[in-house]
Order: sequence, then C-alpha cells, then structure tokens
Amino acid sequence: MIPDFEPRAVAELSPDERRAFFERDAGVSAVRGDVADIVDRVRQEGDVAVREFSREFDDVEVANIDVTDRAERAAEDVDAEAMAAIEEAVENVREFHEAQVPTDWTREFADGRELGRRFRPIDRVGVYVPGGAAAYPSSAIMGVVPAKVAGVEHVAVATPPADDLNPVTLAAIHEAGADAVYSVGGAQGVAALAYGTETVKSVRKVVGPGNRWVTAAKAEVRGDVEIDFLAGPSEVLVLADDTAEPGYVAADLLAQAEHDSDASVVAVTDDESTAEAIAEAVAEQFNARERADTIEAALGNDASGVLLARSMSEAVLFAEEYAPEHLSIQAEGDEALLDRVTNVGSAFLGPYTPVAAGDYASGTNHVLPTNGGAKAFGGLSVDTFLRSSTVQRLSADALGDLSGTVTTLAEAEGLEGHAASVRERTED
Ligand code: NAD
Repeated sequence: MIPDFEPRAVAELSPDERRAFFERDAGVSAVRGDVADIVDRVRQEGDVAVREFSREFDDVEVANIDVTDRAERAAEDVDAEAMAAIEEAVENVREFHEAQVPTDWTREFADGRELGRRFRPIDRVGVYVPGGAAAYPSSAIMGVVPAKVAGVEHVAVATPPADDLNPVTLAAIHEAGADAVYSVGGAQGVAALAYGTETVKSVRKVVGPGNRWVTAAKAEVRGDVEIDFLAGPSEVLVLADDTAEPGYVAADLLAQAEHDSDASVVAVTDDESTAEAIAEAVAEQFNARERADTIEAALGNDASGVLLARSMSEAVLFAEEYAPEHLSIQAEGDEALLDRVTNVGSAFLGPYTPVAAGDYASGTNHVLPTNGGAKAFGGLSVDTFLRSSTVQRLSADALGDLSGTVTTLAEAEGLEGHAASVRERTED
C-alpha cells in the first residue's frame, strides 16, 4: 500500500511539519549511543570486536577480514557486460575528477612578496563502501577513484561482510584502484578504519556514504580522524513546473526512495495539476518497483512529500532551506532557478538528466552531504583528499617595507620576540 502522498500546500505546513523537512536527521541521532559503544569496543578490542559485530549485525562468521586478494581476482566472476559498465563508469568518474586537480602556484605580489599555494595528497585514507540493503559498486568507484586521482598512496576500503561477497562490488573496488580491502561494515567498519585493528591499518581520513549506523559512526570518530562530511541516507528534491513530465519526476522520487527506509524524497511544484499528476504517477509506478517495503517506508517519512507552492519563487525558497543532497530541476528556466539555490549537493538540470545518471556513470561524484549538510559542505571531490599549504619568500626590500606593520601588530599583541625577529634583519 502506497502511503499518503497527497499534495500539501507549502504555505499550510505546520511548524512541526516544516521542522520535519528542514531539521531532518534520517534516524542518525537515535543510534548515536549504540554506535558510540560499538566504536569504543572496536577501538579497545580490535579484530575480536569486529568479528563479534559482524556476527551480530550481518549474521556472518568472518573468516578473513582482509579480502584484498579476493578483490584482485573478482573480475573472473563478473560477466563481460558488468565489467564493461564498471570500466566505463571508472573512466568517466576519473576524467571528471582529473579536471579538478589543482596546480601549485606562486605569484609575486607588490613589493617583492612571493606567495604561493601547494597541494599534497593525504597519505592514507579509508573509503566506506556500503552494502547492506543493496550492493554499491558505484560507491566504490566514487570514493576510490578521486582518492587515487589526488595521489593518495594507500586507499583502504571497508565494506560489509557476506557469506558470498558480491563479486561486482569487489571488482569495482579493484578496478577503481584500492590498495587494501576489508570485509567489515557498519559502525564497526568505520571504527576499524579510524583506529586500526590487528588486521586493519588505520587511516587519517574516513570518507564515504552509508546508512544511519555508518553516518553516526563517522560523527563519532570525527576529531580523532578527519572525515569528509556526513553522507547518510539518500535524498532528492525535485523542483517542477507545469512543463515537467510527472512520470519522470515520480521515477526520480522512487529511485532515491529505494535506497533506504530512512531516505527522503520531495517534489515541489507551483502547478496544482502537476502536483496531483506526480502523486498519481508515484502510486502507479510504485506497483512496478521491486523494493516496495523500503520505498513505502521512505515515502512515509516526515521529510518526504509532494508539495504545492504558490510560485516557483516559494518553491526555490523551500529548496534553499531544505538543502538537498540531490536537486533536480525539471522546469522552464532551470539555470535561472538554480542560480537562486546555493544549498545543494549536486544539481541535475532538464528532463533527460535523471539523478541515477550521476549515481552511476556521468562522471560527477555521488557521495554527497545529507540532512542539510549542503549548507556547509560540497560533495566528495579531489580536494577531499588533498591538503593545501602555503609557501613564501620575501626579499630584503619586501621585508623592509613590511617591517613597520609587522612590528606594530606584534607589539600590540605583546609579542615582543616577534617584532625582534624582524628588527634583527632590518636594523643593520
Ligand atoms: P551500509 O553498508 O551503509 O550498512 C550496512 C551495515 O549496517 C551492516 O554491515 C551492519 O553492520 C549495519 N547495521 C545494520 N543494522 C544495524 C543495527 N541494528 N545496529 C547496528 N548496525 C547495523 O548499507 P545500507 O544499509 O544498504 O545503506 C546504504 C546507505 O547509503 C543508504 O542509506 C543509502 O541511501 C546511502 N547512500 C548515501 C549516499 C550519499 O552520498 N549520501 C550515496 C550512496 C548511498
């Protein structure tokens, strides 16, 4: 049974309903306490805890936590069509991310101040590749390829265990260029990457998407290691006007809804008959979808719905406040509408740009901030794996020109030694 997906007017949402959209958290805070215990146990007990949690949460007796060699051989068990799809996706993602690589620069500013910026990769990173409710070879490509393009030497992957590990996921992990692969998922997988175990080598930064437990674990380890951002259960917000094809909008909502019962999917339109047609198309297409239980739960979330705005301006304001992971604009003047939205993980313009294209193979990254994180973060990119540092050289004249400013500020701060380190050079 499709849950109540009747259009609601944006202007008539109650304060509680607005909060449910704008302060959504996809169940992450509800599991923070349990996750803190899991993370702590892995940190204290290493492999023993990893094996115990794999038994408890994945129902798997893990023989080898390190499955790097199995990933190396996985392509033998993958049919040619799937292998070709992996290779094309890797190629497109690599091409887009190579275009992002920044170059070091130095510039001479006024008075002989030579200043520059250089970029260097982090040496060891961990990529979480989800694999509970669905298999995610695509997330392996999205996490590992940019890390390798950035020049990261050691890229380790953690992915949930299974009695028969998915060969397509393993092949994608290998094809993307991972250096080590560990069979451990959920919060215990994130903790193993962050702190290391007897088998898992610790990393400096953990990236990648996952469900509420994975996302809560990234929040838990943040501070001890770096993370990218919280990339939790999927979201899409579609801005549609009367030119939108309701069937396309419905298909995009159902596609993101099938990721997770915690997913959030929203369509906002300024046209009443479009709103009704989208709701009808959702109900119609729902019957043909396989992952009905997951979709039904996601559509029933408080942060999901079809909304009727009084104008596209009101729809745009709603999108800006919602700060969606994916924003699809299926409306006239899509670029002008996008210009008015700053809070967005990844934008998809026009009727022929389904979010699924970016999820898999167009080349952009699908690891994106959720729960309003787009207000502060962009998605995964080459930058995620680089540190920037600055470099400078001053000539004697340049230091002379600057000395008054530096010594005045140093003395104002009571740091006389700083002023002296300048005078030592300029008062000869
Ligand atoms: P997952 O790998 O994220 O989670 C599976 C793990 O969850 C299991 O290994 C298990 O250890 C743990 N788990 C399950 N039930 C638990 C419980 N009761 N207690 C403790 N741990 C438990 O795989 P998934 O579940 O398929 O979820 C993938 C998620 O990734 C979806 O939410 C999807 O929407 C999301 N996603 C997000 C992005 C993004 O960029 N934001 C991209 C792709 C996918």
